[in-house]
Amino acid sequence: MKPLILLIEDDAQIRRFLRAALDAEGYRLQESITAEEGLAQAASRQPDLILLDLGLPDRDGLEVIQKIREWGKIPILVLSARGQEKDKIAALDLGADDYVAKPFAVGELLARIRAALRRSITRVDGAGSLVHFGPVEVDLEKRVVRVDAKEVHLTPNEYKLLQVLIQHAGKVLTQRQLLNEVWGPQHTEQAQYLRVYIAQLRRKLERNPARPKYLQTEPGVGYRLVPEE
Ligand code: CA
Repeated sequence: MKPLILLIEDDAQIRRFLRAALDAEGYRLQESITAEEGLAQAASRQPDLILLDLGLPDRDGLEVIQKIREWGKIPILVLSARGQEKDKIAALDLGADDYVAKPFAVGELLARIRAALRRSITRVDGAGSLVHFGPVEVDLEKRVVRVDAKEVHLTPNEYKLLQVLIQHAGKVLTQRQLLNEVWGPQHTEQAQYLRVYIAQLRRKLERNPARPKYLQTEPGVGYRLVPEE
């Protein structure tokens, strides 16, 4: 059975565009025009992924994320207007998985959908303790990190930061989420910690720390571990 995508979007033109694009990829699609309808369908149809517009006629899309996260972990990909950094960050902090800025290229959107669906599958089956990306191998059980098969020493906070990024590989994490996970809730405004520690991790793990391939910055939002080769 092909994955079912629930699209919550009031713009008829975007719905038509997405209908064609998703149909061509073989996804099943359910459409909602309002937040209310979308919430009801998310609960009754249990889609594999939700594509959510934030500007809906009846309610703020952020409320939709909040409501869905009260009962489920269905991946949520936000369709946000370009440049609305605040909305993106709020959506991610509330538990959205990713976002694409409008106007988006269909190829990029499809890649994000595949990545989100893949993550929700590995979350269920992922039992292995060895993680690989590029030249890096992390043994989560023994807490050992190797680059090109050579062991690399990480400080406890560097390791913790890497671990959080690995747990959410592929997903954008906001500065607030990362600071909260690694340093605790009293340090969520210390963005400079992150800049320093991400730079250190890049120096230790990336082949070219100035042009990182795996530990990527999402400008104005946070960071993302891109595990692909
Ligand atoms: Ca809208």
